[in-house]
Amino acid sequence: MNPKYSGRCLCGAVTYLATGKPIVVAQCHCEECRRLSGTGHTVGAMFSSNAVTVNGKLGEFRYSSGKDSEVTKAFCANCGSPIYGKNTRLPGHLTLTLGTMDDADGLNVEVVIFEREKPHWDQLGRDVTSFAAQPDWKPDD
Ligand SMILES: [Zn+2]
Ligand SMILES: [Zn+2]
Repeated sequence: MNPKYSGRCLCGAVTYLATGKPIVVAQCHCEECRRLSGTGHTVGAMFSSNAVTVNGKLGEFRYSSGKDSEVTKAFCANCGSPIYGKNTRLPGHLTLTLGTMDDADGLNVEVVIFEREKPHWDQLGRDVTSFAAQPDWKPDD
């Protein structure tokens, strides 16, 4: 049985459904992903474009990446959540942002790319305290 992965943007105007296992799940630290995400990386699951249906109004932003390849980033036209990216170097494929998936159960980052561009602050240091959910913390007044 083919797994299905549904997802949506922050406001819910854009939804998608992907069928089948992703080709690869990658974490990217390139400068473009950093600026796009507003944090140190993006995590994306690559699928064949045929395996994905997207509903809702998307905005698109294109830029050239390296020689002869053009990247298109698609985002919700209303709330701006990044939905997918595609690259003319890999026609027929698109990479959905893992953070917009409803349930990425069973998916894990398989490769980290552009590790050299990883900002020093984008990692959990040894002394970082982590919380399973929102901590029960309030600022002092
Ligand atoms: Zn939205
Ligand atoms: Zn990147």
